[in-house]
Amino acid sequence: MQTLLLWLFYISSFYAFIPGLITRIFGFRVFRRGSTEHEYALTFDDGPDPQYTPQLLDLLKKYDAKATFFVVGSHAEQHPELVKRMYDEGHLIGIHNYVHKSNWLMRPATVTKQIMKTDKIIHSITGERSLYYRPPWGIVNLFDLNKKRSGKFKIVLWSAMFGDWRERIGADRLTERMLQKLHPGEVLLLHDCGTTAGANPDAPRQMLIALERVLEEAKRQGLKSIRVDDMIKAKENSPEKKLSFSKLAIVRLWLLWEAAFHKMFRLKTVNPYDPMLHYRVRKYSGQKIELEDGTVLDKGDQVVELHFDNEKLFRFGVRSRSAVHLAIHLIRTMEKEFPALAQCILEDPKAMDAKTLYGVTMVNRGPEQFGFRIVDLKDGLFSRSSRLYLKFLLSVIHPSGQSRLKEQSQQLVPKMLLMPIGEFLERYAESGSHRHHHESRRRRNEQTEQNEPNDLNLTAQELESSTPAI
Ligand SMILES: [Zn+2]
Repeated sequence: MQTLLLWLFYISSFYAFIPGLITRIFGFRVFRRGSTEHEYALTFDDGPDPQYTPQLLDLLKKYDAKATFFVVGSHAEQHPELVKRMYDEGHLIGIHNYVHKSNWLMRPATVTKQIMKTDKIIHSITGERSLYYRPPWGIVNLFDLNKKRSGKFKIVLWSAMFGDWRERIGADRLTERMLQKLHPGEVLLLHDCGTTAGANPDAPRQMLIALERVLEEAKRQGLKSIRVDDMIKAKENSPEKKLSFSKLAIVRLWLLWEAAFHKMFRLKTVNPYDPMLHYRVRKYSGQKIELEDGTVLDKGDQVVELHFDNEKLFRFGVRSRSAVHLAIHLIRTMEKEFPALAQCILEDPKAMDAKTLYGVTMVNRGPEQFGFRIVDLKDGLFSRSSRLYLKFLLSVIHPSGQSRLKEQSQQLVPKMLLMPIGEFLERYAESGSHRHHHESRRRRNEQTEQNEPNDLNLTAQELESSTPAI
């Protein structure tokens, strides 16, 4: 019996779960996330629904948002007028099987039949063939990945889902979860019908309330929802696409590791809606350091440790036309992030008690403009392992990657960045002394002027050769 179960387990994992996992991690033959700069994609599954789909279409029209509907064939058959309306109002229509059943429970031939039948129904209403397919619960099996089928239909999953099929989640929690994922490139999964197994019939009511708030916030941020086909087109022309498959796989694994790290060490994000800087308060464990203003940093002192958002850096990196472009982009971003970080510190008693800001980076000259002291790391295991890690990051993030790395490897020495918390707040906190703030800004400007043009180039070069985790 046990052996039989085990075998069943192996076979079922092979058939459904493992391909599912592979597609989720590597996006293999499956689209799950775009790489647009101001666009995200709203997608709605399981409809059309006679009660909620019309309300949803009204809402999308009000905000001039375009969406993708993965319709269940039998529902489309019952409400052709709603499918027609989706089509006429410029939305994309994809297939979500004829009945809402997992592909894992069906033979490949049955899945094919389900898809073909739904395609026929959509075609009879709109006159257009559908090219996009989303399997129920996102469960893809080996046969879905088979070249023949995926060559015809593009499988579309999602990058964010929210549990909106449950009514008890409530509009407030749903709004909060959605806002956290409201970023360019995200593919948001929602449901405009609650009659499928495991869902609540009136759950879409909560979804509609939350969606209106999210659309309002998206408008404020200049973000626009577009159809999945437009997002795929944009991705095919994007710089990320030019990276090799193996490099992309490494990047994905590394970003997974990053996400785990952030959870494990409870990193706080300065601007959760557009993450760039993260921090945590921790005990300093390095060598004793005395700064020129008399601040002494010793083992056991609390520091605010800074981390860049490496996913954002990666995107900056591959999109930058040149090293200087990347450096300028980073400097501009930091100018915006530091005042927000100061605000976070002011509101966080633990951070307020810390002695200094602390980070490890390969940036050697750039951060001085911002008031950081740069201190050599004592040679040791930590220094060596950070050097390896930062080098790896650089090879991944950098626009010209490995080749640049070889050229500059002499300069790639990780250093410590430090700034006393009090000084940081004086420079960047809105509520800090105006005079000090003004003066430090003036000083900063002077410094930049003096350094130009020679030093700016250096800074740019070093900055781009370093991006890693400050
Ligand atoms: Zn579904």
